[in-house]
Amino acid sequence: MSKANKSNKAIKYRLYPNDEQKVMFAKTFGCCRFVYNQLLALQKQRYKDGESHLSKLKSNEFATRTLKKDYDFLKEIDKFAVSNAVFHLADAYDRFFKKQNHFPKFKSKRKSKKSYTTNFTNNNILIGKNVIKLPKVGMVKAVIHKLPKDDWKLKSVTVSQDSVGNYFASVLFEYEQEDIPSVSKSSTNAIGLDYKSDGLYMDSNGNKAGVHKYYRESHKKLAKEQRRLSRKAGSKKNETKSSNYFKQMRKVNRIYRKIANQRLDSLHKKSTEIANQYDIVCVEDLDMKAIGNKGFGNGKATFDNGYGMFLNMLEYKLKERGKYFVKVDKWYPSSQICHCCGSVKKLDLKDRFYTCDCGYTGDRDHNAAINILTEGLRILQSL
Ligand SMILES: [Zn+2]
Repeated sequence: MSKANKSNKAIKYRLYPNDEQKVMFAKTFGCCRFVYNQLLALQKQRYKDGESHLSKLKSNEFATRTLKKDYDFLKEIDKFAVSNAVFHLADAYDRFFKKQNHFPKFKSKRKSKKSYTTNFTNNNILIGKNVIKLPKVGMVKAVIHKLPKDDWKLKSVTVSQDSVGNYFASVLFEYEQEDIPSVSKSSTNAIGLDYKSDGLYMDSNGNKAGVHKYYRESHKKLAKEQRRLSRKAGSKKNETKSSNYFKQMRKVNRIYRKIANQRLDSLHKKSTEIANQYDIVCVEDLDMKAIGNKGFGNGKATFDNGYGMFLNMLEYKLKERGKYFVKVDKWYPSSQICHCCGSVKKLDLKDRFYTCDCGYTGDRDHNAAINILTEGLRILQSL
């Protein structure tokens, strides 16, 4: 018998608000940042005073009662946005307590992401033809490039403004998904992937996957425009920013966004390809943050190639297909074992080849990918 699971899916729409709506969006972004910061300050003070941490519910009570009384402007905006800002901070604390995150920081006006989330209730949100209705904002012009299926339930909307100034609504839906029958764990259609900082990965068949050439080209263009930006009046500290400076900054931001989109695109393509082709995919469980910060000494390459994002995509795409995504412990010495005879030796970081006394010689990453596959299959069988 198959049982149904609840799943979520988001569709992101471009918004074209009028001037009045832009003001309301800006107000709501600001209020959410304000509430978040107020609560963070309160929690910090309570900690200093030896008082207990306010729960999610108590935090929400504080925001919707006390803060609203003291600050009239909070009454003007969407009440769900305020509560969600509170929950957002509570989640940040949760992740901090679980050691998944750094301690929550105050949101600055200039640097923090401009966004807020509102919830669906009593048809307060609607998706129409070329329009989205939002609470307190009304009908906002939008490009509806894709419609939800009839049985999808609208849950929430996150409105955001990117660094170029464009507005978006990411609409979250919930739907029932039939359980997909799992493929056999003993399928031999399996692959191992070894992370490569200067590309994306090397697989256990010896194929390398890297970033696209156009990606490099965009990077060259970005460097050029950034150099131009540094020559505009306003690029130095204490200098007044000229209109040319802002103009150039928007140009740089546009290229940034293009690069981010290109990367997302190519990661989606690659992960779909693998999820379609293989039943079992084994990878190393890497601490991407630690690698990006130090350790490998090439943080930039690591952040740029988006391996962490790639693994997340692979995981859900395989799951959707009833297939297996297996993480091998990050301490497993995949690069030190000879996949032919099983003997172990330490390799230098600069050694590109693994040469073993048993007679095996091969690319170091290829050898590692085969070991990751073998270990992953062993783990899968033991589950
Ligand atoms: Zn050997």
